[in-house]
Amino acid sequence: MNRREFSQGLTLLALSPALPSIAQPPLPPRVNATRLRKRLEDLSVFGRPAGGTFADGVSRVGFSDADIQGRTWLQSEIHSIGLEPKIDAAGNISALRPGTIPGKKPILFGSHIDSVRGGGNFDGDVGSMSSIEVMATLMEKGVKTRHPLEYVVWAAEESNYGSGLHGSRMAAGLIESDEFDRVQGGVSKREAIKRIGGDASRIAEARRAPGSFHAYLELHIEQGGKLDRARIPIGVVEGIVTIDDYDVHVRGFANHAGTTPMAERRDALVAASQIVLAVNSIAKGESGAQVGTVGQMSIKPNAPNVVPGDVELTVEFRDLDGAKVARLGVAFKERCAEIATATNTDIDVVFTSRHEGARATPTIQAAIEKAAAGLELKAMRLPSGAGHDAQAIATLGPMGMIFVPSVDGISHSPRELSRWNEIAQGADVLMSTILELDTRDSLG
Ligand SMILES: [Zn+2]
Repeated sequence: MNRREFSQGLTLLALSPALPSIAQPPLPPRVNATRLRKRLEDLSVFGRPAGGTFADGVSRVGFSDADIQGRTWLQSEIHSIGLEPKIDAAGNISALRPGTIPGKKPILFGSHIDSVRGGGNFDGDVGSMSSIEVMATLMEKGVKTRHPLEYVVWAAEESNYGSGLHGSRMAAGLIESDEFDRVQGGVSKREAIKRIGGDASRIAEARRAPGSFHAYLELHIEQGGKLDRARIPIGVVEGIVTIDDYDVHVRGFANHAGTTPMAERRDALVAASQIVLAVNSIAKGESGAQVGTVGQMSIKPNAPNVVPGDVELTVEFRDLDGAKVARLGVAFKERCAEIATATNTDIDVVFTSRHEGARATPTIQAAIEKAAAGLELKAMRLPSGAGHDAQAIATLGPMGMIFVPSVDGISHSPRELSRWNEIAQGADVLMSTILELDTRDSLG
């Protein structure tokens, strides 16, 4: 067959009505990326520095006036897509779209819209605005789901009144003793909750029962640089790390820096410096993604001509595996005992707190990967080194998180940045994952 005959053959094939067509799976729906970007820009004005632009970031601290304005705007956005916003006793905002099969538990998805002081326009906002966009797209396209869909924006996720994850912790019943009596800027947390439409005296009503939802999904920016460095648009979160905190007190002896011979010194900073290096080498000492950090140190007397006599420092270890985090702590304490002997100092190590992490449900991780593959997007599994509402909600039922890249891994800063196209891709993956999980009767 010459070239001409070959191409004529192809034409005949294409025209022949008798040939069976190859069934293509339906294309997954896509969100409206322009509308998603507009909502992120519209939200960014609440808490923007006076005279600033989008690039100047935001201070929308939970319970503040800016937070309240943003929440009011959010409720009108929920109305505008045809749903009814609801505020629970903790101040969480939610909206429910019924499913087609009675008795099915809702698929819950959302994030938060409060920020740290001097934060950016992506942490929390990306997940919250993508989730409402997913809801709007499904309604607009008439895509029905068997399970009800519930959009949720958790109140005051960032650290506030001494602890973070306010709304999601209340939903999970993880209330700290006396937390409503804590005072910040002259306002008790009890009053602050009232300001956002909640009621601490009825906080039990904000509680969600274990097993009361089919799945919880949260889209979030990575806040680290792994996806951006690897040029991979979708992160499948394996879980949120467990954090163990320690306070360390090193006692030596403060003495004259000119007259005390080296052999006679009891230099607390020399000991503390060895502790810093020990934390680093312990964290690097085995394979895995565990991290160890000395983030704070105070030196006494902190004078140029005095051998430091007293140093206090903080140590933390993080990993997905809580048992590994504990094991790193044991190794650390052993090293401290050796350092104390070698430097002739006394070293007290006090374990101060454990922040329990959470594993993402394996079937949800697989569903996110399938959703990304269906959209022809590369995905990579990774742990979350930062805390999220998802870790509190994971105590109640199946949980999964999707990450989109943070440019240069920057977050909690006005320079926090995610690319618009990658945000829309994350929202598409969220939507496909919801539709995928909707086909399952159980995620066990
Ligand atoms: Zn966040």
